[in-house]
Amino acid sequence: MADVLMGETETFAFQAEINQLLSLIINTFYSNKEIFLRELISNSSDALDKIRFESLTDKSKLDAQPELFIRLVPDKVNNTLSIIDSGIGMTKADLVNNLGTIARSGTKEFMEALQAGADVSMIGQFGVGFYSAYLVAEKVIVTTKHNDDEQYVWESQAGGSFTISRDVHGEQLGRGTKMTLFLKEDQLEYLEERRIKDLVKKHSEFISYPIFIWTEKTTEKEVSDDEDDESKKEEEGDVEEVDEEKEKDKKKKKIKEVSHEWQLINKQKPIWLRKPEEISKEEYASFYKSLTNDWEEHLAVKHFSVEGQLEFRAVLFVPRRAPFDLFDTRKKMNNIKLYVRRVFIMDNCEELIPEYLGFVKGVVDSDDLPLNISREMLQQNKILKVIRKNLVKKCIEMFNEIAENKDDYNKFYDAFSKNLKLGIHEDSQNRAKIADLLRYHSTKSGEELTSMKDYVTRMKENQKDIYYITGESKKAVENSPFLEKLKKKGYEVLFMVDAIDEYAVGQLKEYDGKKLVSATKEGLKLDDETEEEKKKKEEKKKSFENLCKVIKDILGDKVEKVVVSDRIVDSPCCLVTGEYGWTANMERIMKAQALKDNSMSSYMSSKKTMEINLDNGIMEELRKRSEVDKNDKSVKDLVMLLFETALLTSGFSLDDPNVFAGRIHRMLKLGLSIDEDDVGGDDTDMPGLEEGNEESKMEEVD
Ligand code: ADP
Repeated sequence: MADVLMGETETFAFQAEINQLLSLIINTFYSNKEIFLRELISNSSDALDKIRFESLTDKSKLDAQPELFIRLVPDKVNNTLSIIDSGIGMTKADLVNNLGTIARSGTKEFMEALQAGADVSMIGQFGVGFYSAYLVAEKVIVTTKHNDDEQYVWESQAGGSFTISRDVHGEQLGRGTKMTLFLKEDQLEYLEERRIKDLVKKHSEFISYPIFIWTEKTTEKEVSDDEDDESKKEEEGDVEEVDEEKEKDKKKKKIKEVSHEWQLINKQKPIWLRKPEEISKEEYASFYKSLTNDWEEHLAVKHFSVEGQLEFRAVLFVPRRAPFDLFDTRKKMNNIKLYVRRVFIMDNCEELIPEYLGFVKGVVDSDDLPLNISREMLQQNKILKVIRKNLVKKCIEMFNEIAENKDDYNKFYDAFSKNLKLGIHEDSQNRAKIADLLRYHSTKSGEELTSMKDYVTRMKENQKDIYYITGESKKAVENSPFLEKLKKKGYEVLFMVDAIDEYAVGQLKEYDGKKLVSATKEGLKLDDETEEEKKKKEEKKKSFENLCKVIKDILGDKVEKVVVSDRIVDSPCCLVTGEYGWTANMERIMKAQALKDNSMSSYMSSKKTMEINLDNGIMEELRKRSEVDKNDKSVKDLVMLLFETALLTSGFSLDDPNVFAGRIHRMLKLGLSIDEDDVGGDDTDMPGLEEGNEESKMEEVD
């Protein structure tokens, strides 16, 4: 039937993931089904935003339907609930793409979240809110009219497919979209006026378009039989006779008069126009939720206005969690809605807030921007630059306010520390202020994190610099040989174990006038001995000059140079990198980023300096042997082994772990006095260990 009336019907298969999502929505029990209404109203509001924005530059876009509204129509006869908007509508191509054939990145993520126990109310955050209609409906019909196309009807009972057809004979919308939900038998509560009104109040209070509900009012009226006949003629149909009444009283009878009207059910006064002191936390929370689709309350809010030469009002929020796609570079964060004198302009204005603050959500309403501002104009706009500067300032203020509560700040830092570090990297103007917000574990912080400010208060009297070490994890750095001397001197060292720390600290360079010094780089000066001690040390150093040369000869290009160390106490040696070059950690990060491109790795690798520990027994023994014969084979072997071990303890990776393993195995055999010739030939080439005084070699590595 429908086919004949509506012209050709085309059938489409849902994209596989969407289909899976639909099954999940339909077949899993969720108690929180009511959120479907919020999702559909939010879609309508978005569609209205779009047409309003277009109409700013071309008024004729509104011609087909000048009014902007959302209407809700419960129909108890057919058990349907319709959500109608006069928004931008969808062309046929939009219908095909948006409602079924192209899965958003969030589809899969949302399903994973659901299976991990997430609540279905999170759906809007994943960009698949439309499908929540199937929480309550067994069938959905979407009728839609876009200015650039004819009116079309989309229909589906899920089950793998949907149909689309031209809507020639149906009621014409002019422009906009009507979503008709055929409610499941056990979901008829969504036909009740009270229930719908409560839901709108709860979830959609801050929608900035009027939301109307089609209400039915029944009034009782006493009429005589004759009057009754007349009144029937006068009224336009909506009259019901009450049979029982008729039987009771033939002359006089009561009739029920049913009247319908559109009733406005939201207030729409923008929250940002009100005074902050008059707004409750709950109101902010409900505004935040309606703005963001978040199911949790915000972590912090900043509501302010700027007056003077330039005027604007803004409400900014920090969410409790990072979104699932925080650093998805394909997706531009657009979390600040821009209004001009109460009119929504756009929500993806990149000029409004720097990328690193992309997680901050909110609204900005400017009195000074022109209403018909175009995207191109925004890029040049001076007013916008000033707004942006103020937003950044207020954001940082807000973060500092969060920091007043430790639990809240931990939550915030967990979710958004990467953004702050990105800010250090990108925002040179605010670098110092952002640095105050950073927190790290350190050699003295225990389980807690410490700020640099607190670090400074703990600095030793003679300590000039702030020390840090970068690496893969707290575990990997806390026992690093690089920290030996620093620890001995009681100097605190910050553990920077986030990949982005490498970049951030490279930009930060100093805090509170104190230099940030890497424990793993060249040029770490720690000694402050007496003249006499220094002299003694210089002499000892001299006696090791020859060994340094010998080691450099053995290692060749593997190291830049070999020097005596100031930073190690126990370990025999370590590998440091140039002050301005990459650290071992950076090399690891870059290797991971360069993926399979081997051509990169040759010039990628850090310039290493081997630092040797004069007070270490192994080094002393090596010195003696190299003095006797600088071509001593055992010296060569041990130097190689020391180098490779130092690579590991210094945070580098081994180019060929098998060669290293081969060396270790040979040492083990020596230790166990196994004769080389007795064992199979799987050993890696390692000249020197086959001959010479084996026992003495083992002593050296003991
Ligand atoms: P989201 O709204 O998060 O993008 P949805 O699954 O809710 O995801 O909707 C998918 C797309 O369908 C929307 O992005 C929009 O393009 C289109 N759409 C949904 N509802 C409407 C509507 N009422 N009017 C116009 N377009 C709509």
